[in-house]
Amino acid sequence: MTRRLRDLEVPELRGKRALVRVDYNVPLDDQGEVVDDTRIRASLPTLRYLLERGARPVLLSHLGRPGGAPDPSLSLAPVARALERILGEAVRLAGPADTDDAVEASREGPPGTVLLAENVRFLPGETSNDPDLARRMARLGDLYVNDAFGACHRAHASTAGLPRFLRPAVAGLLVERELEALDAVREAPDRPLVVLFGGAKIGDKIPLLEDFLDRADRVLVGGAMANTFLKAAGEEVGASLVEEDALEGAGRLLERGGETLALPTDLVVAPDEEAGEAARAVASDDVPPDEMALDIGPATREAYAGAIAEARTVFWNGPMGYFEREPFDAGTVAVARAVAKASLGGAFTVVGGGDSAAAVRRAGVADRISHVSTGGGAALEYLARGTLPALEALEPT
Ligand code: ADP
Ligand code: MG
Repeated sequence: MTRRLRDLEVPELRGKRALVRVDYNVPLDDQGEVVDDTRIRASLPTLRYLLERGARPVLLSHLGRPGGAPDPSLSLAPVARALERILGEAVRLAGPADTDDAVEASREGPPGTVLLAENVRFLPGETSNDPDLARRMARLGDLYVNDAFGACHRAHASTAGLPRFLRPAVAGLLVERELEALDAVREAPDRPLVVLFGGAKIGDKIPLLEDFLDRADRVLVGGAMANTFLKAAGEEVGASLVEEDALEGAGRLLERGGETLALPTDLVVAPDEEAGEAARAVASDDVPPDEMALDIGPATREAYAGAIAEARTVFWNGPMGYFEREPFDAGTVAVARAVAKASLGGAFTVVGGGDSAAAVRRAGVADRISHVSTGGGAALEYLARGTLPALEALEPT
């Protein structure tokens, strides 16, 4: 375990500049305004904790993939405005974190103001974890707090590099809460442990799925991931989204899966994503060659809901279908409701993944889930390895 923000004494915080790596990688609309402020809200406990103890938060975040050069469309300016509104305190935006201007700004201003440095990915050296950049960024603070759970699986300068040059280096309240929830799934979960995998980023998730075949009582697969498994099993999947590179891995899992692994027995197909009116359910071995599977079918929904109802612990990553558009959201909504119902019945339930989190919010059940993670890749990697590169760089206890 790493040292935590809550382990620091007040004198270690009062009057100090707390350099906090947050994850404000939020979606923006065409006008450049923040559409979903979940990740900003998730940072509030740490910010308030610091402000209440007289520390001066200096925030670092990335936004999008500007590729190491300034890109005005990926400025954190709209994020600073959104944070100011939500926090109810003044938030100043400084230049990039490696500049003397930013260092000066970190020392200026009345206590209680929050400083946000411009997008760390404008800096060459951030994603390559350049130690010189990390050392320059360390000048912005007197202590380092990592609260960017969604970025902890990345060994970048602001996540894994910086804490090596700035101590104390501790985990923030959000990171602590995330790890606690994921540990409850990873270490001695109440059984049955039912895991659901869907979504589209299949190759990335195969190693984790493999791991869960040993650990979980049931592994239920849906979404585009199921198409890949069905194709690997020799089924005709028509024009469905399939990750060709993942077929071999999927085939290997099928051989090992046995009773634990469940694939959809029926699917909702249509000529394409736009053709919602033509949607109909077919058996999984009956996908027409010129149509695509865009959701799990009603029999599968029922079967998966039944397995979820018996679970004492649930982990879910990846939507069951093309949930952004009706009627292909039905499978995802049914599963979301089943998971929420299991929580009400006392099961411990965790949802991880950007799209998965959006899906449970859309289904209106997010507040009934035990924990909705702010990180997709980070949550998955933590479940598989029990640690993350950015956590390993913090002070051990
Ligand atoms: P998460 O962000 O929760 O980790 P992913 O990014 O892996 O999830 O996958 C989410 C995406 O997968 C969504 O955009 C969703 O529309 C898409 N998807 C899921 N099932 C299908 C399908 N059957 N066909 C096409 N797209 C799908
Ligand atoms: Mg996603």
